[in-house]
Amino acid sequence: MSYPLPDEVRRLQDKLRRFVDEVAIPRELEAEMNPEFAQAYKSRNQAWAKDNGLWAMTIPKDKGGGGLSFLEQAIVNEQGGRATNGVGWCYSSPPRFLAEVATPYQMETWIAPMIAGTRFYAYAITEEAAGSDVDAIESTARAEGNGFVLNGVKWHATGGGTADFFIFQAKREDGGHALFFVDREQDGVRLVRTPDYMHSHSVHPIFAFEDVFVPADNLIESDADAQSNAMTWTHEWFRYERLMIAARCCGAASRLIDEATAFAKDRVVYGQPIAAYQAIQFMLADSLTELWAARLMTYQTAEAMDRGEDVKIIHGQCAMAKLYASEMAGRVADRAVQIFGGRGYMSENVANRFFRELRVDRIWEGTSEIQRIIIADGLFKRGQEALTA
Ligand SMILES: Cc1cc2nc3c(=O)[nH]c(=O)nc-3n(C[C@H](O)[C@H](O)[C@H](O)COP(=O)(O)OP(=O)(O)OC[C@H]3O[C@@H](n4cnc5c(N)ncnc54)[C@H](O)[C@@H]3O)c2cc1C
Repeated sequence: MSYPLPDEVRRLQDKLRRFVDEVAIPRELEAEMNPEFAQAYKSRNQAWAKDNGLWAMTIPKDKGGGGLSFLEQAIVNEQGGRATNGVGWCYSSPPRFLAEVATPYQMETWIAPMIAGTRFYAYAITEEAAGSDVDAIESTARAEGNGFVLNGVKWHATGGGTADFFIFQAKREDGGHALFFVDREQDGVRLVRTPDYMHSHSVHPIFAFEDVFVPADNLIESDADAQSNAMTWTHEWFRYERLMIAARCCGAASRLIDEATAFAKDRVVYGQPIAAYQAIQFMLADSLTELWAARLMTYQTAEAMDRGEDVKIIHGQCAMAKLYASEMAGRVADRAVQIFGGRGYMSENVANRFFRELRVDRIWEGTSEIQRIIIADGLFKRGQEALTA
């Protein structure tokens, strides 16, 4: 029996699946071999996403976004995750809270253009000495005149290649966290370098913010609660991203199982297809079983978010979905490389590319170790029933 997706969600799934099969997958190898083509192709696919209501899909419709449910977004990410080299990631999903807390000035200056796809952002939290432990950030926001002076060096800024503004997380003088809009072209913002990563589908530069003055209008959620809200919003963003990572990992694993199964049926060794050997069958059987579990966790967590269930429980469930799905996808990619044999080690092979690209899913938006800490914390505080019943 298939998962009981509502009809409109099933239609969305079919549409995305067709797009990924017919448009994204056929060009992913070209994207691997030619990064310039990859960029151009992604831009072209973004036009398709805009035409199909997948732009700013996190943002409610009354604010100009796509207004998709969490389940629908998980479905979109799952299908997008079936292609390598990011060619399936044509949609955009900026943090929803921005549209909820933005002042009219912030809406006009950053959010509405971001929703329209004319401005791009990077969410800059991590620093050289502060990744897992967000509270250890050393970036500062010092009140001065009618604004703030910002200092800090931010690492791994995803989207930093095209971003023309940052969501910059810093600590105020009293130690509370705060988020600011910072324009890329502002005095004091400097690109330090753009390191190479294990994947080639996106860049994550390092930026220095040196005595950058921003008016108080740039402070996100600039009311009396601003300091506590910064971490609240960042945690909301982490939950969302963790669930969508889980969804993309399900898509990747699904593709790998399809590809490895087709190869196993076709590849003849010692006179018979390798699919006839139990060693190969067991790898595929384990992969399929683990994919099913990860998909159920992902869909059910998305549905719980759509129902607006207790955010503390959701926090633990997003951590479980991300932990399990990312580790599952890593195992599936490893088995797929093994099934393809020497071919699996070639960059032109899908298993090679996923093997490299999926590795980051155990690291970004909180490593597997951090997800385990969150899950154990939830277990101790709220109990097994609350988290899994
Ligand atoms: C490609 C990529 C894109 C990224 N994009 C962004 C972005 O857009 N914006 C942004 O702000 N950040 C971004 N990040 C940063 C990412 O979120 C961090 O790399 C991640 O949270 C881990 O932090 P760290 O690298 O500093 O590792 P560390 O925190 O230094 O951890 C190192 C190791 O120690 C382990 N560890 C740490 N604490 C514990 C503990 N208590 N118990 C057990 N083990 C522990 C970790 O699990 C890890 O294995 C990105 C990273 C990558 C690789």
